[in-house]
Amino acid sequence: MRPNSLHAADLAHMVHQQTDLDAHGREGAVLISRGEGVRVWDTEGREYIEAMAGLWCASLGFSERRLAKAAHDQMLALPYYHTFFQKGHEPSVRLAEKLAAIAPEGLEHVLFQCSGSEANDAAIKLIWYYNNVTGRPQKKKLIGRIRGYHGNTVATASLSGQPHMQADFDLPLTDRFLHVSNPNYYRFGETGESEEQFSARMAAELEALIAREGGETIAAFFAEPVQGGGGAITPPRGYFDRIQPILKKHDILLVADEVICGFGRTGHLWGSETYGMRPDMLTCAKQLTASYQPLSALLISDRIHAALLEGSRRNGSFGHGFTYGGHPVACAVALETLAIYEERDILGHVRRVSPAFLEGLGQFREHPLVGDVRGVGLIAGVELVADKATKAPFPAAAKAGLKVQEACEKAGLIVRAIGDRIAFTPPLIITEAEIGEMCARFRAGLDAAWAGLR
Ligand code: PLP
Repeated sequence: MRPNSLHAADLAHMVHQQTDLDAHGREGAVLISRGEGVRVWDTEGREYIEAMAGLWCASLGFSERRLAKAAHDQMLALPYYHTFFQKGHEPSVRLAEKLAAIAPEGLEHVLFQCSGSEANDAAIKLIWYYNNVTGRPQKKKLIGRIRGYHGNTVATASLSGQPHMQADFDLPLTDRFLHVSNPNYYRFGETGESEEQFSARMAAELEALIAREGGETIAAFFAEPVQGGGGAITPPRGYFDRIQPILKKHDILLVADEVICGFGRTGHLWGSETYGMRPDMLTCAKQLTASYQPLSALLISDRIHAALLEGSRRNGSFGHGFTYGGHPVACAVALETLAIYEERDILGHVRRVSPAFLEGLGQFREHPLVGDVRGVGLIAGVELVADKATKAPFPAAAKAGLKVQEACEKAGLIVRAIGDRIAFTPPLIITEAEIGEMCARFRAGLDAAWAGLR
């Protein structure tokens, strides 16, 4: 590595996020310098198909000029304004109006933040506020799921079921954060247990937890329609149908974390639609702006909004907000993104190419390294196993997932290893031809990794 190079400066000064810092210290980082469509290039000139759309987010790929123009125009008109103290601006109002129009039924009111973490953090704060204002101060516990991912703030990392995001950070923050099992049927379904029976067992576990804690102490259940950071895990058949009546019975709010699934990822506008979820609150981010600007939204019902009004009267003001929440440039980019989704029928496109994507990856079920392939729309997970017959996983020390990820990178494909689960969420604009290329590169990577793991 040359002294004074970009890579040397990176090693000396840049603390990478969600990174094995030791490995970074030894190997440095891949620095990406430009993008075009579903492809990106690194500073060494290597080209990759970005089969993760960055972090499950760059839905329109890496070169949508209309979004650049929307940001530029808004910067010239009004580069910044806030939404505190009864002030505001047109882009945030128009975006709130648009989101309320396309949201699942009953979610009429919108709060803006900059990230998915902040949206979920705001949801947690509002849930506690709501129960205080409605005279139920004991109803505060929150249920997440093992391997769920809801963000990195102190509260959302506590809610997430990701041990490495809690260890040594003194999290979870309080005993208000509870977790139920991970609904990965392939990995945790018992021999002879059908998918429906597995869902019934998951629901029974939830019911037992509520009985143990007391329903009057539990405020909300958070769920991603498809678990992303857990390894692209689609819910088993009947899962949400079984869970929702239990929540309703105990007046426990359902929060749909649509940070990954929102805006077409699962083949419907919302993952909630795909899986029949009827959330009381919904969080979204990422594909809201195609990730060209940082923006997230929390959508709430009239019932919860009424409590905010009541609390504001009681306390003199609604005491919550972010300087950059609803930033006009981000909102203008979001409005343009949603316009592009409609004009180009992105949802129709996802449905048209999804069979090629799921069948293309489905072929890898035959591969000796692969135990399971699951997916919906344009999100899929490939689970690696040491032994297909017994489903025995590789020992953690084998780093099988990481080896596949690295071999794929050498073959010009960016995927994400989450343990031994390989996730795919390409930009929603990917074509069938590009899906074919993606699968060919995955085969090259998988074969190369297998040679080393045998
Ligand atoms: N929720 C889900 C489902 C996510 O996948 C993520 C990030 O990947 C988050 C929340 C956190 O979003 P952010 O990284 O924008 O804070």
